[in-house]
Amino acid sequence: MLSVYNTLTRSREEFKPLDDGRVRMYVCGPTVYGHSHLGHAKSYVSFDVIVRYLRYLGYSVLYVQNITDVGHLSDDADEGEDKIERESRKDRVHPMQLVEMYTRSYFEDMDALNNLRPDISPHAAAHITEQIELTKELLARGFAYEKNGSVYFDVTKFPSYGKLSGRNPEDLEAGARVEVNPDKRNPADFALWKKAERGHILRWPSPWGDGFPGWHIECSAMSMKYLGTSFDIHGGGLENQFPHHECEIAQSEAATGAPFVKYWLHNNMVTVDGRKMGKSLGNFTTLKDAFAKWSPDAVRFFVLQSHYRSTLDFSAAAVEGAAKGLERLNNTRRNLRDRIKNSPAQGEAAPLDPAKYRTAFLAAMDDDFNTPQAVATLFDLARDVNQILASDTSYSAGSLQALEDLFEELGGKV
Ligand code: ZN
Repeated sequence: MLSVYNTLTRSREEFKPLDDGRVRMYVCGPTVYGHSHLGHAKSYVSFDVIVRYLRYLGYSVLYVQNITDVGHLSDDADEGEDKIERESRKDRVHPMQLVEMYTRSYFEDMDALNNLRPDISPHAAAHITEQIELTKELLARGFAYEKNGSVYFDVTKFPSYGKLSGRNPEDLEAGARVEVNPDKRNPADFALWKKAERGHILRWPSPWGDGFPGWHIECSAMSMKYLGTSFDIHGGGLENQFPHHECEIAQSEAATGAPFVKYWLHNNMVTVDGRKMGKSLGNFTTLKDAFAKWSPDAVRFFVLQSHYRSTLDFSAAAVEGAAKGLERLNNTRRNLRDRIKNSPAQGEAAPLDPAKYRTAFLAAMDDDFNTPQAVATLFDLARDVNQILASDTSYSAGSLQALEDLFEELGGKV
């Protein structure tokens, strides 16, 4: 039985999708203004394993992961410079050219990491109509207000604002930033639509004038378009729990009156010397740089040695350790396959029961996708297979093949 930690209820829950046999899942995708770094690997490898495991369990999974190509301002709330416009000015290219380049780069890196492509990768700039419609609905229902060409969500109209992150608007007011946008009724209000100032390139006409959508509204509009007003899993980085995911809940539930998401899953971050790795912090390693030193498989294996909800401390020694561990596993499998070729069809069965290892592996994965524990099971299997390979007994090819089949079932092809 699969149990997951649901951030929304802050508890472990048995996983039961809204519809039997089907899982509808959304994960916040990257803002494409730079090459992906190890923090992205942590997030998207973690959710790739979750999708793969749900499919292994027999669920039909519809996996949507967006591409943020507009509206993500440097302050994650909704003030400051547009990250994409800022980078494109530096590089003297059109913002959409920058977006195209880094979207390709992102998928190139994710493919190298052996992440399955999402079933749908909606781009925010291709869903402006949906975001305007949702904004109009929130205005019509009295949850939003227009001021000077921008539209804001009024958090005081949505009493459960804060239910995901445990924060409330009063806390925010107490710790409000020095500069509060005077157009907002309450400091915690957030933009659904922003007026485009002169010189802002990415702009669209709207009932409130030329502008562009806020960052949060894209995830509500695109997830509900493809997954329905209520769906099973919403994933993302822990650092986006607030304000991004909190705002998604407020917008979506205010507009539809239905519960937005059943399970919120959050991955933790990659740290360097105990501090967060991030583009804005300047301590990040891009995946392209990492792949120049280590194989993408080793980077993936390194990520899976931490639980998705735990931090992953990056160092060259840690990735090299993971690479060596992976090599040991792969060596065992290569030796096993060589032995199978030279083994008789008839003979004594190898004294290892595949079911025992499978059971241990699945118990680990059922335990909120405990990949470090699951990987430990593969090392147990490899250790016991090595012992068999060291013996002179000629075990039957079929019984050895069952062990290689198990490696492939649980660990993939090599
Ligand atoms: Zn999002």
